[in-house]
Amino acid sequence: MFDKILIANRGEIALRIQRACRELGVKTVVVHSEADREAKYVRLADESVCIGPAPARDSYLNMPAIISAAEVTDAEAIHPGYGFLAENADFAERVEKSGFVFIGPRPESIRTMGDKVCAKRAMIDAGVPVVPGSEGALSEDPEEILRTAREVGYPVIIKAAGGGGGRGMRVVYTEAALINAVAMTRNEAGAAFNNPEVYMEKFLENPRHIEIQVLADGGRNAVWLGERDCSMQRRHQKVIEEAPAPGISRRLIERIGERCAEACRKMNYRGAGTFEFLYENGEFFFIEMNTRIQVEHTVTEMITGLDLVQQQIKIAAGEKFLLRQRDIEFRGHAIECRINAEDPFKFTPSPGRITNWHTPGGPGVRMDSHVFTGYTVPPNYDSMIAKLITYGDSREQAIARMEIALSEMVVEGVQTNILLHRELMHDARFVEGGTSIHYLEHKLSQRP
Ligand code: ADP
Repeated sequence: MFDKILIANRGEIALRIQRACRELGVKTVVVHSEADREAKYVRLADESVCIGPAPARDSYLNMPAIISAAEVTDAEAIHPGYGFLAENADFAERVEKSGFVFIGPRPESIRTMGDKVCAKRAMIDAGVPVVPGSEGALSEDPEEILRTAREVGYPVIIKAAGGGGGRGMRVVYTEAALINAVAMTRNEAGAAFNNPEVYMEKFLENPRHIEIQVLADGGRNAVWLGERDCSMQRRHQKVIEEAPAPGISRRLIERIGERCAEACRKMNYRGAGTFEFLYENGEFFFIEMNTRIQVEHTVTEMITGLDLVQQQIKIAAGEKFLLRQRDIEFRGHAIECRINAEDPFKFTPSPGRITNWHTPGGPGVRMDSHVFTGYTVPPNYDSMIAKLITYGDSREQAIARMEIALSEMVVEGVQTNILLHRELMHDARFVEGGTSIHYLEHKLSQRP
């Protein structure tokens, strides 16, 4: 096991990684920006290094500063968390070239999955079902583009190979609009992602977002840890996640889970990863793979009893991978609500000082948050301030516990979306389960 790990992230995930390290007896170094100097997890770490001013490009995205922090503190490995540099293949490569262990997949895996055209090809080769569409990137020839769209069938979606974060996509409903839409997406993709390559997919009109968690050791051992339903989204941002996904047959999940594990073995994938799918009419369609720990890993932890961050660290340390698929058991139901500091109606960020912070508790309640009374939410980063997770024997119990937990929570000084979560816990369609990725936006548009 490592002696010391550097955590190259902030907020709740920095604290989450720190907790995993402490339980493993590993010392921690936390890097932080000037804006995060007063954070509690910074003080709790064995060592901390300020790596720059508040803007992320000067601190959490500053590769030389992070690597020199690892050098001066004698850390052996770097955990990137999620966001920031977590899926930056160049960073992973620089970490390894500087003699540290990157707690994540090999740089080649990150690079392949970061290019969605390459990622899709890898999935087709591995037997994972993908959304029907163009074979690889679209050609420059308008006739060929039109022909491809006719084969796929309208509506289609044009997506940037280098896209991410819900950007670089355009839906096309008619042939008349196609060529222009392709040109516009190409231009935007070139400017935003430095890669003008685009591809085409059938646009699924009412899918759910279902994803499969995997863990793999970089060799022949890979397991899948069930699915998560992350369909409750606003502007492609997940708001609520749960595991298992309501109303999908276990046989179907087992079949797709095994495909994902097999794909990991084929690619010699190492570490934690997530295969994201759109699910419609009983079929799964791969859209992308995330090569990192995800925000919503918690719900999988609750139903499997595994600590995914510790698993990541153990795999990176080269410990023998002991998990076998037959040992993995799924029990109960877990739901996560992302608590954001934002206006509950306009969704604009609401940074500032938290004057009162009271967290819920009781059976089956888990709170992952770095926040405390007197903490100031900086305006520079993501607005998520907490993840509230509840667990129950059944989905009904997890929802009931979430309702109670949300009602106990007190946050003063900043606005939050707690009200929206409370509304959703009472929403008849959510309670029924199985809503599509458009449900929340639709519901919000009906608000008076
Ligand atoms: P990103 O990396 O930007 O998140 P994704 O490929 O994961 O891009 O797609 C983001 C979101 O866009 C999906 O969650 C879904 O809501 C929508 N989307 C992407 N592809 C399709 C498709 N073929 N049909 C319908 N919706 C899609």
